[in-house]
Amino acid sequence: MKNKPKIAIFDFTDCEGCEVALVSLREKLVEIATETEIVNWRLAQKKADDGPYDIVLIEGTPITQTEIDTLKFLRGQTKILVGLGSCATLAGIPGIIDKEARSGWYEKIYGKDYKPRGIDALPLSAYVLVDYSIHGCPVDKSELLRVIQELLAGKTPKNPGYSVCFECKLAGNPCRLLDKKPCLGPITAGGCGAICIKGGSPCYGCFGIRQDAQVDNLVMTLRKFSDPAKIENYFSMFLKKTPEYKKLFDNKKERNGKP
Ligand code: SF4
Ligand code: SF4
Ligand code: SF4
Repeated sequence: MKNKPKIAIFDFTDCEGCEVALVSLREKLVEIATETEIVNWRLAQKKADDGPYDIVLIEGTPITQTEIDTLKFLRGQTKILVGLGSCATLAGIPGIIDKEARSGWYEKIYGKDYKPRGIDALPLSAYVLVDYSIHGCPVDKSELLRVIQELLAGKTPKNPGYSVCFECKLAGNPCRLLDKKPCLGPITAGGCGAICIKGGSPCYGCFGIRQDAQVDNLVMTLRKFSDPAKIENYFSMFLKKTPEYKKLFDNKKERNGKP
């Protein structure tokens, strides 16, 4: 009998919300679990397996040397490595505060003698080759299912080529920018259905910067009604570890996360 494809699921520093999205696939997850062998999923079962694997899904970002070593080991053990959620694909929420700003908080909370082990949160791609990134905070369930099914079928999944604005227009939302309210939708990859705008919030870019995004043009537009510090704050929510953020803001003093 042919061996079933082996899917391993791991997490580093994160909130586990993207794994909850995986659980919420319910019967579709049961179908996947029947067609495959799911191992090392700490949140849902205890089956430990040292590999090799066909697919490794990794949620979260490594913030200790041990986690980085584990990530490199997993890369060597799998045919396909997938980043699950913005913490893994962008450094996301763990990436908001840099190591220097964090040390001030450590001292304030734990005292001067505390010796932190944490390093700067970076996306998985800073350390290893990532075959596919499922962006989102949390990931979109349909996108997650599509990617897993396509990978199991031997296909190479593609990112949607459109922006959040495209989905926002389809949903009939009034444009925030026309109302002089910030939004990163024009530069952000679609896939979420513009869920935040529907709920009255701006897009903060958790699906990552889309290909060919006109980042400078958006910043020029935002500058017409928002001050530079606020614009930087919008970008720093999910995009702080992107080359685009570095180009725009990294020559300035760290503003976020100071105690
Ligand atoms: S991407 Fe968001 S929902 Fe997913 S693990 Fe990170 S913080 Fe949680
Ligand atoms: S509200 Fe945001 S996502 Fe929607 S169309 Fe305007 S800029 Fe694009
Ligand atoms: S609207 Fe923007 S911030 Fe909200 S889920 Fe979509 S990509 Fe993420």
